[in-house]
Amino acid sequence: MAVLDIVLHPDPILREQCVEVKEITPVIRQLLDAMAATMYDAPGVGLAAPQVGSLHRLIVADVGDDDETGKKAQLYKLVNPVITLKEGQLDSEEGCLSLPDIRETVKRYSRVVVEALDENGKPITVDAEGFLAVCLQHEIDHLNGVLFIDYLSKLKKTLVLAKLRKQIR
Ligand code: ZN
Repeated sequence: MAVLDIVLHPDPILREQCVEVKEITPVIRQLLDAMAATMYDAPGVGLAAPQVGSLHRLIVADVGDDDETGKKAQLYKLVNPVITLKEGQLDSEEGCLSLPDIRETVKRYSRVVVEALDENGKPITVDAEGFLAVCLQHEIDHLNGVLFIDYLSKLKKTLVLAKLRKQIR
């Protein structure tokens, strides 16, 4: 399976609003497979379509085994994901494949319920807590042009952006 190039900040595509997928065609399924392959290759725990240059509302996530909840590793390929419930709060130390070498702590909901379609167009509901909940919030943000550094204080964000500018690509 093809591994795709990951789009890096400050590419403007990362700030675009993604569009709903109207029909889950073989091309969309292939894209989801390639996104998963790219995520595992990176390696990362989640990836959103704009990070591989597509403006469809598609995300993939696999946070591995969760020792806290006892949940086994599972690959999620979600089409048009929407958060329908959010509750609680936690501090989340995050990074992003599009922002190499940046790790910062942001506030997230500790539980979210996400409704989406799977790759066959079947509705699915993911009731997520902890790390998976954080991952889904992060990836769904990407579909709305939001990056995790947007949750930092103005000062912190300025420092992070300066660090990113200094990175040699
Ligand atoms: Zn990200």
